[in-house]
Amino acid sequence: MLAGLLSRPAPVRSAFRPLTLPRVVRSGARGLATSSDPYDVVVIGGGPGGYVAAIKAAQLGLRTACVEKRGSLGGTCLNVGCIPSKSLLNNSHIYHATLHDTKRRGIDVGDVKLNLPVMLKAKEDAVTALTKGIEGLFKKNKVDYIKGAGSFASPTTVRVDLLDGGETELEAKNIIIATGSEVATFPGLEIDEDRVVSSTGALSMQEVPKRFVVIGGGVIGLEMGSVWSRLGSEVTVVEFQKAIGGPGVDGEIAKAFKRTLEKQGIKFRLGTKLASMDKQSDKVVLNLEDVDGGKTDQIEADRVLLAIGRRPVTDGLNLEAVGIETDDRGRIIVDDQYNTTCKGVKCIGDATFGPMLAHKAEEEGIAAVEIIKTGHGHVNYDVIPSVIYTAPEVAWVGRTEEQLKKDGVEYKVGKFPFMANSRAKTNLDSEGQVKILAEKETDRVLGVHIMGPNAGEMIAEGALAMEYSASAEDIARTCHAHPTLSEAFKEAALASYSKPINF
Ligand code: FAD
Ligand code: NAD
Repeated sequence: MLAGLLSRPAPVRSAFRPLTLPRVVRSGARGLATSSDPYDVVVIGGGPGGYVAAIKAAQLGLRTACVEKRGSLGGTCLNVGCIPSKSLLNNSHIYHATLHDTKRRGIDVGDVKLNLPVMLKAKEDAVTALTKGIEGLFKKNKVDYIKGAGSFASPTTVRVDLLDGGETELEAKNIIIATGSEVATFPGLEIDEDRVVSSTGALSMQEVPKRFVVIGGGVIGLEMGSVWSRLGSEVTVVEFQKAIGGPGVDGEIAKAFKRTLEKQGIKFRLGTKLASMDKQSDKVVLNLEDVDGGKTDQIEADRVLLAIGRRPVTDGLNLEAVGIETDDRGRIIVDDQYNTTCKGVKCIGDATFGPMLAHKAEEEGIAAVEIIKTGHGHVNYDVIPSVIYTAPEVAWVGRTEEQLKKDGVEYKVGKFPFMANSRAKTNLDSEGQVKILAEKETDRVLGVHIMGPNAGEMIAEGALAMEYSASAEDIARTCHAHPTLSEAFKEAALASYSKPINF
């Protein structure tokens, strides 16, 4: 038993303990070795969806393994997504503010210089600390961490090509696919992570490009565009739509947001799509096309970021062998209990429907496991907050004015500008507003849209209000501490059914 695995030089694998090795082990041509019980849950993918599902399953008393092929836990989010991008957003903001926003605060600074290698190292350190932290949580909760690429050998068997060589098979009563997403590519365009980068390359550029063109004015484009603009690049964002940020951003906020980013120096080409690009030795020439008239022109860049969306990762899972179906966008089809078309196999996170957000994947991970354990589990898809971590931040939850109009819902609007909020004014950081949309007849909050300082933290109050079906008046009658930015939230609620006090 375990012959194949153990015959290799003993690798140091702290989380890979012989006693908790997979139920069925096969190694190369050496044949099968079996042991008693199957796992209750095997999760394929150790991102925010998968690792949270695995920990929750173990906490609920289910014997659990998590298979991850990356060599570190945390998925896209911790390794090449949320966390490294927020590190660069935070530190580039401090650099930019130190350069341009200290005089009026009574702070005279000397020679301010960018030390890009150190900034990149701070980002890497944050990633390492957090991904190692999940390994610690796996140990604490007794989740078996299997390092390798998983695929279906049968509806109840996950074959793993181990990163250290060899293979193993895990028998499971329940399997959860949480394989996430990867960068969507453009036909005929090679991402070399040098001149033409994906978000992963844009997180690790070793020098500040002079001309940085971003294709796609969605969340990644605006966040990474902001980082490199603050560090000194001339940034142009080319966006297919007529507005930035994507469809969840309220139209009024999107317009104000664009004006704000333009003031920061970012240029926008809206209603414009990339047609093709020509990579030359010293530059990239981009052929752009107007989406209305088909008018074409060219722009040049030193580096190009392609950020036109992400697509589910299902390659190599051998889904066909077990009858798991995907839709026309490659998303694994699930029902409202995350069941795929193969009995006993669920799917959560970016690999299936819904917004590609870490917290959405996490909630689904919890719900899927609770369904396995108790038969019940739930995610409220009407109340998934979104945040764009620019400065100021943009955050929203629920429906936009445009969606409410489309849905034929009668609504009231309450707004409050940060210019009239004492804390924001005192902090010399008063751009933006809070906008609350409430149902006309019932006063129930249907949407919250914020552009402003700390919008990403403040949106939690909107989500909580909506989760509990609060009315705007419930919020306005809740005592908020003074002086805080959150008073703008209270005042916007007040404005929706009465008048604000301070504006
Ligand atoms: P993933 O995080 O993609 O994890 C899936 C894991 O499965 C991966 O580690 C992969 O290696 C592994 N895997 C795949 N196939 C196999 C296999 N066959 N066997 C074993 N392992 C496998 N979201 C936010 O909410 N907030 C943000 O601020 C944010 N910022 C982002 C910034 C960037 C630059 C990017 C790219 C994304 C960002 N996102 C953000 C999106 C977020 O990262 C994803 O929504 C989230 O990671 C999805 O989680 P997941 O668990 O479904 O998949
Ligand atoms: P996105 O869908 O947010 O934006 C892509 C944009 O590219 C769209 O606005 C689209 O109209 C545009 N586009 C597509 N083809 C084009 C073309 N040929 N020319 C010009 N524009 C084109 O995708 P993204 O920004 O790549 O982000 C991917 C996912 O990652 C998103 O789902 C997002 O939720 C997630 N993410 C979230 C955060 C966050 O929560 N702060 C941060 C980064 C990424």
